[in-house]
Amino acid sequence: MSDFNEIEKEEKKSLNFIEARVVEDLQNGKNDGRVQTRFPPEPNGYLHIGHAKAICLDFGIAEKYNGICNLRFDDTNPTKEDTEYVDAIREDIKWLGFNWANEYYASDYFQQLWDFAVRLIKEGKAYIDEQSSDLIAAQKGTPTTSGVESPYRNRPIEESLELFNKMNSGEVEEGRMVLRAKIDMANPNMHFRDPIIYRVVKTPHHRTGNKWNVYPMYDFAHGESDYFEGVTHSLCTLEFVVHRPLYDFFIDELKEQKDLDDHRPRQYEFNKLNFNYTLLSKRNLLILVKEGLVNGWDDPRMPTICGFRRRGYTPESIRKLIDKIGYTTYEAVNDFALLESTIREDLNAKATRVSAVINPVKLIITNYPENQSEEMEAINNPEDENSGTHNITFSRELWIEREDFMEDAPKKYFRMTPGNEVRLKNAYIVKCTGCKKDENGNVVEVYAEYDPETKSGMAGANRKVKGTLHWVSCNHCLKAEVRLYDRLWMEANPREAIAAIQETQQCSALEAMRQVINPNSLEIRNECYVEQFLADAKPLDHFQFQRIGYFTADKDSTAEHLVFNRTVTLKDTFQLPQK
Ligand code: ATP
Ligand code: MG
Repeated sequence: MSDFNEIEKEEKKSLNFIEARVVEDLQNGKNDGRVQTRFPPEPNGYLHIGHAKAICLDFGIAEKYNGICNLRFDDTNPTKEDTEYVDAIREDIKWLGFNWANEYYASDYFQQLWDFAVRLIKEGKAYIDEQSSDLIAAQKGTPTTSGVESPYRNRPIEESLELFNKMNSGEVEEGRMVLRAKIDMANPNMHFRDPIIYRVVKTPHHRTGNKWNVYPMYDFAHGESDYFEGVTHSLCTLEFVVHRPLYDFFIDELKEQKDLDDHRPRQYEFNKLNFNYTLLSKRNLLILVKEGLVNGWDDPRMPTICGFRRRGYTPESIRKLIDKIGYTTYEAVNDFALLESTIREDLNAKATRVSAVINPVKLIITNYPENQSEEMEAINNPEDENSGTHNITFSRELWIEREDFMEDAPKKYFRMTPGNEVRLKNAYIVKCTGCKKDENGNVVEVYAEYDPETKSGMAGANRKVKGTLHWVSCNHCLKAEVRLYDRLWMEANPREAIAAIQETQQCSALEAMRQVINPNSLEIRNECYVEQFLADAKPLDHFQFQRIGYFTADKDSTAEHLVFNRTVTLKDTFQLPQK
């Protein structure tokens, strides 16, 4: 028995605090042993890496405890929502590796929510307020002083009912009146000070069209939706801690009998995911997309799931990252370098090693016969013994990296410099003999002689040389465009930096963003050469361009025009851009 307790204690230690609550509820027989969660995105933008954290928790808990997780689109604001976002959200969740049990929409409950609101009015618990939203906000008071009651607060029930119907029939203009819950204008929790629960919106809804002219507010719709669906654990981020009492309040009101405490959803909050040099909120990401500061939601510099996918990040590395970071009840900012090192770790195990030259200069092996070529064997992935090999063609004229040659090199330069020997990866040892320059002094060709006895795998191959360089054969390679990405923001905390600029310069968010965005976050190299093995590279194939970094084919890539995205460099080389 004591052993069992010990094991249990050990297991509990490795649980995050929300899992621990779920285990406790299961042990206490709550909810008839059911675990049901939901992931509730508003379809007003694409999912970002922060959402991945909520997804991993919502779906992860359901999977771990034999429960279910539903996808619920929180579509209560038609002005911002669209089916484009619904489709993108679905695709991203699937790509991350999760499946929902059911797909629901808050708009499925518009009738039930309307009926509930009508009931509250009839019970004298809600009223139509005809004041402006500014005035309502001004009357809210502060956390230490009570608010002021609206002059409409005690209007006759019949009047409120009639007006609520008029709001919905389209007779009332937007902003003219709202429905407020009549709770307590002196409550220390500001959310209880007669919160607005319905407003008029005349934009057609992406699912219900023109059926409704009134839409419920988040606090009114969310808990009730959880309740209608039978959610047991409603997980959200910390900013909702202060909303929780209201969440419970409306569920109490909704339930006719109040003795079903076991069968009500409970809200638990965890900390948001945040990274330095990263801006997450959808509102801001939308500005970047709409104003063309990036090339769409899936621009590989975007912190969106689709941007990460296009850049070459893997779902496994995203899940692993979130696991490493964990769940707490206090806000923290994570280092972007942690994200990148997790990606590297995953790609190191998976990526096929290939040769690509992204800043080419020609190397001529002067003692190699002109019309000769030979196939060299290249190991696909030394980290994976089952990965096999592929061939790369060697010949007299090769492309090498410009940085790999130096005419007057310092002593410890172990690459190509006259008189020095280097190994050409998977091929021969060559000795540099000189170079040719144009009238401006730029190197146009480098010369070397090879030693035929030193082919990789031959007896003479053991000779020690200090440098190994990658190369591709000029007549056996493919031209490619390579896109090199860097961080999108120059400030560690772009959100604060943007807010500060807006404040001091009294300018728009867009104008402030322009000042904080990294002008060098995308570098396009049009003259790159890759080995022929990459002819059929497709998006989501992962490669290591040896000595350069990890790459994937972009969705723009075609057989005629190959395009590769740099997923991440081989090592952390991040430097603050010069302002
Ligand atoms: P944003 O503020 O970026 O617009 P949101 O909170 O408005 O995001 P929703 O679509 O309402 O986005 O959120 C869906 C779920 O994702 C919610 O449960 C929310 O708490 C969670 N979520 C949003 N951002 C993060 C984040 N940075 N870290 C963890 N969870 C998040
Ligand atoms: Mg939101």
